[in-house]
Amino acid sequence: MSEIASVDQLQRFLFNQANVRGELVQLKSTYQHILDSYAYPPVIQTLLGELMAATALLNATLKFEGEIGLQIQSEGIVKYAVVNGTHDLKLRGVARWDETLTELPESFSALFSKGYLVITITPKDGERYQGIVGLDQDSLAACIEEYFLQSEQLMTQVRLFAQQGEKPMAGGTLLQVLPTSSEATNVAESTEFGHIAALTDTLKAEELFSLEANDVMYRLYHQEEVEVFTPADVKFECHCSRESTIGALQNIAKEELLSIIAEEGAIKMNCQFCHTDYVFDAMDVETIHSGFDPDASKTAQ
Ligand SMILES: [Zn+2]
Repeated sequence: MSEIASVDQLQRFLFNQANVRGELVQLKSTYQHILDSYAYPPVIQTLLGELMAATALLNATLKFEGEIGLQIQSEGIVKYAVVNGTHDLKLRGVARWDETLTELPESFSALFSKGYLVITITPKDGERYQGIVGLDQDSLAACIEEYFLQSEQLMTQVRLFAQQGEKPMAGGTLLQVLPTSSEATNVAESTEFGHIAALTDTLKAEELFSLEANDVMYRLYHQEEVEVFTPADVKFECHCSRESTIGALQNIAKEELLSIIAEEGAIKMNCQFCHTDYVFDAMDVETIHSGFDPDASKTAQ
């Protein structure tokens, strides 16, 4: 099987007559990055892959510069899983689960107890928005559909896939009715929507993971009128920095920081997403708390 060119890209399209927008994403190296970052068991890898695909798909709802985050919180086997992405589709993610367990359940719902999904949208300028939906469906995709139905009354279809093994890939599709004010159009649209959703439902993981995005779309929608936009690149990239770490340290009392240094020699902050270490000594702490612009030229160690 030769390499497909549309991997690590997000493809947007529009069914103009039906008032339905669509997206398709295929992730390979973006996904591989997260798999390389920690020894996740397969079921957690799948969860992270689906979260990644979903974050890329939901990214298109951003109409401004900023960030979108999909965070799972639960008191069950999975404690927490998060993927966030910037408006230009740089994704990062991490998960924490009960690592004392040697065997994990296969089913989505068995991973969580009192679980919910928090969707956070953080514009670069402006107020942060948060939406929450319970994890009481049998797949992440179904939970996200439920979220859109509850919070925005928008009919949405989400399909998410992730595979491990020799060729790890993640991906998925999203269909959504365009917001409209007329109720009459809504009824007509829901029929059109149902038709396109049924076509999309025939997509199999092996097709999504082995065919070019264009070929997938042709296979699904060759009888429909669909406008296809230029694809956007997706990649794994962490936007942590020494500066943002300093920002966090500024909220901790100087005495407390100095006592950690006295005990441990230095303050080591490890980024949970990319595992970069940021190290600070007593001199750094003095500078950070002097109000003076800290040494930005220092690179991560
Ligand atoms: Zn990082």
